[in-house]
Amino acid sequence: MTKTIVLIVAAGKGLRAGQDVPKQYVDLAGRMVLSRTIEAFIAHQLIAGIAIVISPQDIELYHQATKEFSDKLLASINGGKTRQESVYNGLKALQEYAPDRVLIHDAARPFVENLLIDRVLQGLENHDAVLPILPVTDTIKQVANHLVSATVDRTDLFAAQTPQGFNFLHILDLHEQAQKDTTTTFTDDVSIAESAGIEVLCVDGGHDNHKLTTSRDMKIAQLILSDQQPLETRIGSGFDVHRFEPGDGVILCGVKIPFNKQLKGHSDADVAMHALTDAIYGSIGEGDIGSHFPPNQAQWQGAASNIFLQHAVELVRERGGNIVNVDVTIICEQPKIGPHREAMRAALSTIMETDISRISIKATTTEQLGFTGRNEGIAAQAVATIALPTALEQKNV
Ligand code: MG
Repeated sequence: MTKTIVLIVAAGKGLRAGQDVPKQYVDLAGRMVLSRTIEAFIAHQLIAGIAIVISPQDIELYHQATKEFSDKLLASINGGKTRQESVYNGLKALQEYAPDRVLIHDAARPFVENLLIDRVLQGLENHDAVLPILPVTDTIKQVANHLVSATVDRTDLFAAQTPQGFNFLHILDLHEQAQKDTTTTFTDDVSIAESAGIEVLCVDGGHDNHKLTTSRDMKIAQLILSDQQPLETRIGSGFDVHRFEPGDGVILCGVKIPFNKQLKGHSDADVAMHALTDAIYGSIGEGDIGSHFPPNQAQWQGAASNIFLQHAVELVRERGGNIVNVDVTIICEQPKIGPHREAMRAALSTIMETDISRISIKATTTEQLGFTGRNEGIAAQAVATIALPTALEQKNV
């Protein structure tokens, strides 16, 4: 059977995506760009192996990006000073696996589809070089000194994508020769084949197969992902009660309200924040505060409850989810909640890193009935609505 190996070029140091790591290692909805790129090829049954060309200083990032893969992942290869040199190093290293064909792909193109890989592989059945292309849709102008000098006829113009497919020995040989030619720099591998007079077959590229370069590209990538991973709505509810004891004030939703009593509890006894935290845990099936922060552990004595709330929100975000809205109801006769409501919303907004418009706080009495009516304590209930990627959740099952 024909052996095809993919060479992913991830040695670039481009920080253009507005992040502090090269763009192939940027987190894209909970996973690194490179991990998503690798996954696109690993899933294809005609791919025998995948090797990544990296910058040696990124080895830690590389390990993070690849720790979830074992099958098909070959040893990493150190890149060179230019893209061309990196690919050449990669091809030399692949010789030991003796592939028949190689697909050379940019690490920053995570949205390569199976069907696109199919088209390139099919093209290689009777050509030594295959290029995926997309028609150019904008009108193209030739410009000199900020003035238009000509309009270029775009009927024959196409944008080049990757993976570019090659007969392995042929492209290795061409790269070897290109290394000796120090006057020409090639920005992709098909250019090398072209300059050697090789016939390059063009196949349809992919509309989502963009190279992620700018921070705007990253935002568009998030949209593509959320389109691929439909969100589902989750709802959780929480309820809590704490009794009064002598003191000088109560803490509710992170705000201290002066009062002639305080709430009794192991932590800071923020009953409203506890109800809210349990609502968020509930929405993702993660138990309650007690299961994550056992009350018999001394370290939570007097703890600020925002630790609990932040943890619950973090679990949602780890799953690629978002807080849609939360609604907290505080039930007591005293103290008066109304004057502190906006400060509480602002405090929750900061702790949860969620827009204040998504946070509601209400208060009610029980008409002097029951334990809250007798001023023995405060009760609180909360509802949280969460948007969670459906596909991701199913995969974790
Ligand atoms: Mg509590």
